[in-house]
Amino acid sequence: DDQERQEVWANIQDALLNDHIDQFRAEFLELHPYDQARIFEDLEGDIRMQIYTYLSPEEVADVMEHIDYDEIEPFFTEMAPTFAAQVFAEMSTDDAVDILNELEKDKVASFLTIMDDEAADEIKDLLHYEEKTAGSIMTTEFVVVKAGMTIKEAMVHLRTEAPDAETIYYTYVIDEDKRLVGVISLRDLIISEEGWLISDVMNERVVSVSVGEDQEEVARMVRDYDFLALPVLDFQDHLLGIITVDDIMDVMEEEASDDYSKLAAISDVDSPDDNAFA
Ligand code: ATP
Ligand code: MG
Repeated sequence: DDQERQEVWANIQDALLNDHIDQFRAEFLELHPYDQARIFEDLEGDIRMQIYTYLSPEEVADVMEHIDYDEIEPFFTEMAPTFAAQVFAEMSTDDAVDILNELEKDKVASFLTIMDDEAADEIKDLLHYEEKTAGSIMTTEFVVVKAGMTIKEAMVHLRTEAPDAETIYYTYVIDEDKRLVGVISLRDLIISEEGWLISDVMNERVVSVSVGEDQEEVARMVRDYDFLALPVLDFQDHLLGIITVDDIMDVMEEEASDDYSKLAAISDVDSPDDNAFA
């Protein structure tokens, strides 16, 4: 509630003023990143620069994912470039790409140069996809297993991949050529016997989208099939990424406002002033 909020806020300010890192971290990291982002927006730049020194790149990445991307530029300009590059490397690749698309080209290039090769390469690949396609909204942090693994092996693998995966609810099954051959939900994994093979349990009829598919069509499919995520494939059925339902909610909002603008434009044309028969 409101009083609790004010108390937290007072404690955070107190910690900042007295340079108490531990107190700051204890109070700030209790908050949901959405609420952390609201605090960030209200602070002066020099205070934020103090906060960057208190937080890890991963913790700052969580905050940045909840800032309005139209207004995010100043945040990445005020960060030390090497720190900013680490923040991008820690983000979900889809969010990193969305944010980088808002920044100046030179700045993007310099961040990518500082970043380690693996993170930079993944982001560079994603930056190439055309706007409003499945490729432009997918993320590359998904979990895959091989069909010949046992349930037990798959669970061990899932445990190591879980911290960085966008979702662990679906594990995708790929063959030797990285082609998508099946999917298995966490529920399916948990209720299966440890000794069973993935190939015995997986669903082979995988609903997927191709990387060039229009985002509006992807949104429709997520809605119709009720999955929490859909896999994205290239033209040889290689698994490139996944699109999760939270990204679809952003697409639906974007498309709704696009449609609204189009309607507004049409009603402008029809307004009496522009009408030759008026
Ligand atoms: P249920 O709805 O039966 O309780 P669930 O809650 O475990 O299942 P859902 O998200 O509803 O999981 O997915 C239902 C089933 O669809 C799961 O068995 C899952 O493996 C499978 N599935 C997930 N993604 C896909 C996909 N892209 N194409 C086809 N099947 C999928
Ligand atoms: Mg279900």
